[in-house]
Amino acid sequence: MDKYEAYEKLGIERDVYDFCEACEASLKDRFESVDEMAEINQMKVLEAFRREQVQEACLMGTSGYGYNDLGRDTLERVYADIFHAEDALVRPQITCGTHALALALMSNLRPGDRMLSASGRPYDTLEEVIGIRDSAGSLKEYGIGYDEAGLKEDGGFDLEAIRDLIRPETKLVAIQRSKGYSDRRTFSVEQIGECIRFIRSVRSDLIIMVDNCYGEFVEAIEPTDVGADMAVGSLIKNPGGGLAPIGGYIVGKSHCIENAARRLTSPGLGREVGATLGMMRDFYQGLFLAPTVTASALKGAVFAAALYERLGFDVLPDGSEERYDIIQSVTFHREDALVSFCRGIQAASPVDSFVVPEPWDMPGYDSKVIMAAGSFISGSSIELSADGPIREPYSVYFQGGLTWPHAKYGIMNSLQHIINDNIIDRNKLR
Ligand SMILES: *Cc1c(COP(=O)(O)O)cnc(C)c1O
Repeated sequence: MDKYEAYEKLGIERDVYDFCEACEASLKDRFESVDEMAEINQMKVLEAFRREQVQEACLMGTSGYGYNDLGRDTLERVYADIFHAEDALVRPQITCGTHALALALMSNLRPGDRMLSASGRPYDTLEEVIGIRDSAGSLKEYGIGYDEAGLKEDGGFDLEAIRDLIRPETKLVAIQRSKGYSDRRTFSVEQIGECIRFIRSVRSDLIIMVDNCYGEFVEAIEPTDVGADMAVGSLIKNPGGGLAPIGGYIVGKSHCIENAARRLTSPGLGREVGATLGMMRDFYQGLFLAPTVTASALKGAVFAAALYERLGFDVLPDGSEERYDIIQSVTFHREDALVSFCRGIQAASPVDSFVVPEPWDMPGYDSKVIMAAGSFISGSSIELSADGPIREPYSVYFQGGLTWPHAKYGIMNSLQHIINDNIIDRNKLR
């Protein structure tokens, strides 16, 4: 059987296939550098496993209070090693990325303190954590103030605004690495490092926290390598490698991590409790796979950018620029294309492939949203997934792919659906 026959059985037509193959062939150099990054990060992860002497007993779980959980305590040292941080909190009791970020903030801020976002409006779900949108239990309700330095026209940090907004009460500065689902660019770790140096030159005693979601293992260094006091993320994104079924992490300075542990459990208990039940094997194995899984997702993002760019759509980032996270956006300026794209991704999924996504009124959004996700882990966005709000400019945000062949097929199938629905002319594939 030649390769095309395998795709034909999955509904891909010859001209779509040929177009995609030609596009992939043009990306050889890009893919080579993505593989090189995976290699560097694989060695970094393995080195940490070896140094901390991960052993079979680490893969077992504890129950009840979870005192002396060897697997948990060793995994936290492994994370600290990888991130070159003093300490780490990595727990299944941290339910998601938002929870990890809320925990880092709420445990390190006290009434009367202020936090400053140095990277503009933070990720949607943090608005209620901070109290930008009123919410019971928010930082605002606890008397913690918030300032926001917008980004400059060119998407860079506005250092003057940051300096002006650092007040005597400011205790913590938050920087978001990934663009998330906004139309700005993602910051490189180096750019974050420059911003951190500037912040330190204004005031050396501030806690600097980086929202590291979607950024892990995309580069050879992490925010903690360039001076961040805390880096925070979700285990159902990059560092869970697609296997972690839940969880979040905070890595950084010991006193920050200690505060977070005491908030997660309770004062007096801190990090000593927290059973890991049966999850340690997936946490370890997922972390071990994370560099190559992240590379697969990155190749998918680069491929989607190059493909849709060739077809004349606006893509961010474009097919040739450096990547600092795994998110790709494609702007269609028409609803039907966005819907077809998502249906193609859904149909390409290993789970729920037969489900047809529809735009729906999702709580917390001001327009309908369409989502495609047929993942093993519910809501996991290191697995192939896409979503977009049903409003101008009708952009889809696409990410993930546990393997490169699957990411490739998903994108191919999104194009096949767009062709089937007569949204773009077949002649464009010639
Ligand atoms: C995903 C994400 C979050 C929140 O993570 P959840 O696990 O969805 O709660 C926060 N910040 C950024 C930049 C993200 O991409």
